Amino acid sequence: MSSPKLFIPGPIDVSPATYAAMSRTMIGHRGAEFEALYASTQAGLQALAGTARPVFLATSSAWGVMEAAIRNLAQKKVLNLCKGAFSDKWFDVTKKCGFEAEKIQVEWGQPIDPEAVRSKLQEGGFDTVTLIHNETSTGCMSDLQAIAAVVKSFPDIMLIVDTVSSFSAVPICMDEWGIDVLLAGVQKAMALPPGLAIFAVSAAAMERAASIKNRGYYFDFLEFEKNAAANNTPSTPAISLIFGLQHILQTIAEEGIENRFARHRSNNALIDAWSQRHGFEHFAPEGFRSVSLSCFHTPTGFDQSAFIKALKTKHNLLINGGYGKIKGLTFRISNMGNETNATMNELIAAMDDVLSA
Ligand SMILES: *Cc1c(COP(=O)(O)O)cnc(C)c1O
Repeated sequence: MSSPKLFIPGPIDVSPATYAAMSRTMIGHRGAEFEALYASTQAGLQALAGTARPVFLATSSAWGVMEAAIRNLAQKKVLNLCKGAFSDKWFDVTKKCGFEAEKIQVEWGQPIDPEAVRSKLQEGGFDTVTLIHNETSTGCMSDLQAIAAVVKSFPDIMLIVDTVSSFSAVPICMDEWGIDVLLAGVQKAMALPPGLAIFAVSAAAMERAASIKNRGYYFDFLEFEKNAAANNTPSTPAISLIFGLQHILQTIAEEGIENRFARHRSNNALIDAWSQRHGFEHFAPEGFRSVSLSCFHTPTGFDQSAFIKALKTKHNLLINGGYGKIKGLTFRISNMGNETNATMNELIAAMDDVLSA
């Protein structure tokens, strides 16, 4: 039997058409053909990010750019907004890079309160803030626009936003909302195999980076900007993944961005309705729930691992049994990427079958 179809929140299911696009004959990256490929990704990525800035392509997982953003922007002290496994880890990573850092820690599952961010920044001394828009470990999505408005009211503070599991699933307006670094990995809602991170940097953040010493080379924002001006990357990129990216962006343009957002909402609503039928409770509060994945409490007495295992052995479908310190206490179902109402209903029928057995 082939590997199970992935409904875990990353990496997610990759379509045969994307694999086919990725298997094109290799090309050199210092030449017109690659430059045309690179250029062809820009309008689509800019539309998804809501920016007129160039969108850089980094050959790394998202963490490469999450760490790089700190190293390119932080001088004094970083404020990490922590609400789950990924956002909590960003605080550790900031300190591992040798920077002074403080955090606002909310209970896992809860969103970040914009007014708490304002109070903390008013204490002074901060120059950089990190936020995870959609905390994939808990299924909680914070109000990015409201938090960005607060950070923007402190002109010298840079806002770095991880949209790894929300990019291309929900509207994001980088320029309008005042985000300084927007980053995502492609193995989540973009439905590509892992290995590529995409990011955009505001003019102000680029200026800040220019004033920072010891930015290194591989993730130097100024190197990315210089090369992007010639439709290229500082070092040899994952060219096959960029073929795949070009293909996915074509499918997004054909579908229409608004339709893509609506599809994610309606797929997510199917899982919500399913959970209500079975009495599963969301981990995140209403109004702050992710639309790209769902995270549920494991009910007392419910054998979660048997459920996940049966879904896999009987139906060849894979969901996820929680992440980090809430592993086992929660389970998660992704609906991001290429899923349709039809494929979500197949998953739902299979889960119902397992639950009724
Ligand atoms: C998956 C994920 C990451 C980690 O991405 P890598 O590509 O594994 O580095 C970071 N942040 C969020 C919100 C994620 O969902």
